[in-house]
Amino acid sequence: MKPIAKSSKLANVGYDIRGPVLDKARQMEEEGHKIIKLNIGNVAAFGLEPPDEIVQDMIRNLPNAAGYTDSKGLFAPRKAVVHYCQEKKIAGVTVDDVYLGNGASELISMSMNALLDSGDEVLIPSPDYPLYTAVVSLSGGTPVHYHCDEGSGWLPDLADMRAKITPRTKALVLINPNNPTGALYPDEILQGMVDIAREHELVVFSDEIYDKTLYDGATHTSIASLADDVLFLTFNGLSKNYRSCGYRAGWMIVSGNKKRAKDYIEGLNMLASMRLCANTPGQLAIQTALGGYQSIKDLVAPGGRLARQRDLAYELLTQIPGVSVVKPKAALYMFPRLDPKLYPIADDQQFAYELLAEEKVLIVQGTGFNWIAPDHFRVVFLPNTDDLTEAVGRIARFLDGYRKR
Ligand code: PLP
Repeated sequence: MKPIAKSSKLANVGYDIRGPVLDKARQMEEEGHKIIKLNIGNVAAFGLEPPDEIVQDMIRNLPNAAGYTDSKGLFAPRKAVVHYCQEKKIAGVTVDDVYLGNGASELISMSMNALLDSGDEVLIPSPDYPLYTAVVSLSGGTPVHYHCDEGSGWLPDLADMRAKITPRTKALVLINPNNPTGALYPDEILQGMVDIAREHELVVFSDEIYDKTLYDGATHTSIASLADDVLFLTFNGLSKNYRSCGYRAGWMIVSGNKKRAKDYIEGLNMLASMRLCANTPGQLAIQTALGGYQSIKDLVAPGGRLARQRDLAYELLTQIPGVSVVKPKAALYMFPRLDPKLYPIADDQQFAYELLAEEKVLIVQGTGFNWIAPDHFRVVFLPNTDDLTEAVGRIARFLDGYRKR
């Protein structure tokens, strides 16, 4: 019998955050090993429970949430997103411009599928949240990575972005606040991206899922608030800011030059209808979350649990010889660099395997985020301070051994 092979569409599709190293970790857990996980931004799994108001409303709403809804979602939560846009100064958004999804992920995938023809290019940051590279490939497009510069706090290199534009470039992705680097983009950079998008008629996809997960009193600007003559798709949701990854509640806002995008919007509407609707309990949770006051604010404020964990992870990692880290201004991650002179790593997935096998610490290798060289890894600073101290201690011990090889 002929073997059943996967589709050739998957040839360039990967998602290393849940890749082979995680499979190995699962196997080790089954064998009874306890592993410290610095690999995934699953907030509630680290004792950071979702706001009680959301959980209670979810329970209350459940008996009446068994039906399909409109494909874009229920009116009231979409209206709550419109109000959110007003707060974020994204102009001209009506309920019609808001799509609810099973997490932002579904909408990101839908929006790329609706846009791209074979060979169309999309500018994606390097490092990236790898869903973008994967989904552009799966949609038949070509991911083209622009450089984010560690030396300037991981800000996008606008000159590199410009240099990579071709007649096939259709869109530009930014992740702000950023996963995996924790960067938060200043308005000048956002304005620079708007200028590039305007000049080259690019659609801007802005991922703002960490827009309330900000440290040191920082504020966040939505790029869509900076222009009305460029088409913006802005993605957000409850997963991180409201610690509800499992409720799969996200939204997408279409704003700016909608007139130019009539046909594209028709495509978005069709794909939204094909999947019928987002889960209804999750939609209702959006209404509760955006109408209330409970977000991640207290956890990221100075002295809050996440702020303390960020500071601790940064301090401990930067004490290790040959490890440097840009201190995150936002989100849940840092992306340490390993000096190649001290750590001549040829294959960083192998590095992650070895760290897991020797020290039972799970990280994700930098190339899993489409980073150019095997000299970085991502750390999630969600574990409590005791676990973080233990985990970074084990990383330090492992690196000490690595230097002596
Ligand atoms: N966008 C970014 C930048 C993320 O880091 C993640 C999850 O880690 C997502 C989107 C996924 O969001 P959701 O849970 O809403 O699908």
